[in-house]
Amino acid sequence: METVETARGCTDLLDRARAAGRSVALVPTMGALHEGHRSLMVRARAECDVVAVSIFVNPLQFGDPDDMERYPRTLEHDLAVCAEVGVDVVFVPSAPEMYPSWPEPPATTVSVRGISERWEGAARPGHFDGVATVVAALFAIAGRCRAYFGLKDFQQLAVVRAMATELGFPVEIVGCPTVREPDGLALSSRNVRLSPGERRAASVLSRALAAARDAVAAGERSGDALAATMRAVVATEPAVRLDYAVAVDTGTLEEVRTLMDPAAARLLIAAQVGPVRLIDNSAPVDDRAARDPDSHTAHDGADEARRLERTG
Ligand code: AMP
Repeated sequence: METVETARGCTDLLDRARAAGRSVALVPTMGALHEGHRSLMVRARAECDVVAVSIFVNPLQFGDPDDMERYPRTLEHDLAVCAEVGVDVVFVPSAPEMYPSWPEPPATTVSVRGISERWEGAARPGHFDGVATVVAALFAIAGRCRAYFGLKDFQQLAVVRAMATELGFPVEIVGCPTVREPDGLALSSRNVRLSPGERRAASVLSRALAAARDAVAAGERSGDALAATMRAVVATEPAVRLDYAVAVDTGTLEEVRTLMDPAAARLLIAAQVGPVRLIDNSAPVDDRAARDPDSHTAHDGADEARRLERTG
């Protein structure tokens, strides 16, 4: 495994791999690696010849400097995880390496209008511009590859897809199922900041999504009714302050009033739990429930496979 700190060094390594006829995977992360990140790396390892992981806590995507300051940093552990999975290249750039003007922010940024403005974008102004800008820069450094992202950050995945398609990056975007704790809480680097009580309460997000899925399975098709179902579940946990719970169109991320085709919709939820903002999401239908106990994840994969056929 090679660790590189310069963009040039990373590009050279991946160019050489492609010149030797090897396919390249990129897994962008902010470090503090957990099983969710590992699942992306394992899939990349299975599907591509050379796997590159980037570890960069991107200052452009943090609105609050304190939030960035508090973001967990565990480089030694992260490198051990990468080595264990068999990653070939770990790219660990500094801020000036990614943004030569730093500490001045770059003059050139990438904005994806529309889908960036809703939900997480509304709650965190500028967040998705920061994400789109760093991912565009990483794609330029990595070159032709498959890039692996988590469905956990569903809106981010939609923004990255739109950016890569519209700007013509030679990158195939692969969305990977959400990895969860046994009680349903989606793994997140921020979970370590929850107190034991908050940690217990945090599972209410996935329980709210499960209740909405049950309602869809029972025939409910009203977006408002599904939102109300999710709100009611979250209201049972006083430690959790709901921001939004909605059914949206998977393409536009606009709220849907009626789920004509549940497979074309997604349930999104976000809440503040103590010091931490948590997000989660789910497909509203679960067509493999009878056969597969881990069907939520399985459906994520099937849904993603269909999307890939359309966009990949
Ligand atoms: P981050 O380091 O939080 O920026 O995340 C890096 C990548 O890991 C993103 O594509 C995330 O969507 C993905 N990711 C984060 N948490 C999970 C999870 N619980 N399951 C699957 N992927 C995840």
